Amino acid sequence: MIVLGIESTAHTFGVAVLDGKKILSNVTDSYTTEKGGMIPAKVAKHHEDVYLAVLQKALKDIKLKDIELIAFSDAPGLGHTLRIGAAAAKSLALELGVPLVGVNHCIAHLEVTGLATKAKDPVLLYCSGANTQVIAYDGGKYRIFGETLDTGVGNFLDTLARMLGLGFPGGPKIEQLAKKSKNLITLPYSVKGMDVSFAGLETNLKRRIEKGESPEDLAFSAQETVFAMLVETAERAMAHTGKTELVLGGGVACNKRLQEMCSLMCEDRKAKFFCPENSLLVDNAAMIAWTGSLMYEKGGVSVSVEEARIKPYERTDDVEVTWRSE
Ligand code: AMP
Ligand code: MG
Repeated sequence: MIVLGIESTAHTFGVAVLDGKKILSNVTDSYTTEKGGMIPAKVAKHHEDVYLAVLQKALKDIKLKDIELIAFSDAPGLGHTLRIGAAAAKSLALELGVPLVGVNHCIAHLEVTGLATKAKDPVLLYCSGANTQVIAYDGGKYRIFGETLDTGVGNFLDTLARMLGLGFPGGPKIEQLAKKSKNLITLPYSVKGMDVSFAGLETNLKRRIEKGESPEDLAFSAQETVFAMLVETAERAMAHTGKTELVLGGGVACNKRLQEMCSLMCEDRKAKFFCPENSLLVDNAAMIAWTGSLMYEKGGVSVSVEEARIKPYERTDDVEVTWRSE
């Protein structure tokens, strides 16, 4: 089945075309800044400006009449930006007369492992800008075993970068800075049950930056601390569920140190560790197209153009997973 996917939950506007498991195109254009963070109205303006070009590039070698399904990210995310992807998806479905599927973005980060890796029933450590969750399939839904109680780990790293005067996205800049230090400062480590929290750590780092402490040491220590928190909760979820595979997902998963820590933990407990390639870790439309095709073909899910809605606050475990056999 040839599926066109559209992603627009946050900073990235993406369009991809898949033929079964074959990625025919996967184009993205992301909002970035030199200084400061993400302002929803500005991100929406970015998407408005780029969406036609992204669509054209993704469709360059594809015949429109060959497209059999349109999938779009309908949740969760910024209302401002979700609307742009939804409008494009509805227009295309209407014009081409093909079915439409709305896809939960967090679930797409998990399902993409079926496209990109050999994992069968993994625990997903999903680390993106706004979301940080430990997710696994159980009893008809993707259950959230643990999550952040405040900000997502990506937003935490972006905030730290902003406090250090670096631009957006800050995660990759913190990763580079962290490589220049091996001096581990003890910072607040906040795991509460299966959940994590970054707010106290953020305040602590703010004070240290104001006092003029070394940015390299702070970047290194912040990474070591938050990644240890994440790996701890992921490991506990694996122990509780008895699952023996771990998959990393989300933009922060591009971080080599986080990958290394996950890999070491899995080695210790004789589990398998998987990490898709970067273009499928960051927000992208290939994962939306892939998940949409599973939902439609295996779960019989679709939505009419009239009824399709964005759901900015939908949670991973709100979605009935009809496309998976137990
Ligand atoms: P997503 O929302 O899944 O697209 O992920 C975006 C987030 O990933 C942003 O907060 C980025 O700062 C973060 N990010 C991207 N690359 C890296 C990296 N190499 N290390 C840490 N964070 C990263
Ligand atoms: Mg994401």
